[in-house]
Amino acid sequence: MEKLLSRREAIKLVGAGAAVIAAQNFACSAADEPAGRAGAIRGGRYELPPLPYAYDALEPLYQQEALKIHHTKHHAGYVAGLNATLDKLAEARKAGSYAAIKGLSRDLAFHGSGHVLHTLLWHSMTPKGSRMPEALAAAVAENFGSTEAMLEQFAAASKSVEGSGWAVLAYEPLAGKLLILQAEKHQNLAIWGAAPLLVCDVWEHAYYLQYANNRGAWVEAFMKLANWAFAARKYEQARGRGR
Ligand code: MN
Repeated sequence: MEKLLSRREAIKLVGAGAAVIAAQNFACSAADEPAGRAGAIRGGRYELPPLPYAYDALEPLYQQEALKIHHTKHHAGYVAGLNATLDKLAEARKAGSYAAIKGLSRDLAFHGSGHVLHTLLWHSMTPKGSRMPEALAAAVAENFGSTEAMLEQFAAASKSVEGSGWAVLAYEPLAGKLLILQAEKHQNLAIWGAAPLLVCDVWEHAYYLQYANNRGAWVEAFMKLANWAFAARKYEQARGRGR
């Protein structure tokens, strides 16, 4: 069995990571724009989008060291992996050689979904959380019975993802229904076309530095930070009624 990090060891790791991050000087934007696009693109390359708040804005529920590493190391890793996969696919087309297509297709879905979900994650949280706007609350009541029932199902789904993954509140456009999905890794168990509105990351990398192996405590903290105003904007977008 893998040895778990002690709190002291974890703090040391954070210290080392923070120094690297400071040197990289990532900018933070105060803008609270919904992530309408799947992430900034420049010159055909995916880019790491800035957070919509400062790294310490979610304290104490989400400590800045944990948030910084999550954003600048993990999310950045998916952006880099996505660009690298697209480069390899371009090389394969150039060479007319598709021996690696199966693995590359898998990498594309993994890194691409990782990038999309993390881009949504930063907007899915807001300092102190936000109340659910009336239009979304009405749709939630219609689809789940009540807001409380939806919140309970969302938290239960988050806590019980097998391995690494996500809980996702999604709008399924064929029936116009709201659904709560679990995602394993980033890309598995999705429904095609269902638009994610609010996502909770339950990979260990999301919470281990602050909450160790207590995923439940992280999920409870996330529920207090949940940005239902953002989810409501995504809901209107998904129905073609928003900006
Ligand atoms: Mn993550």
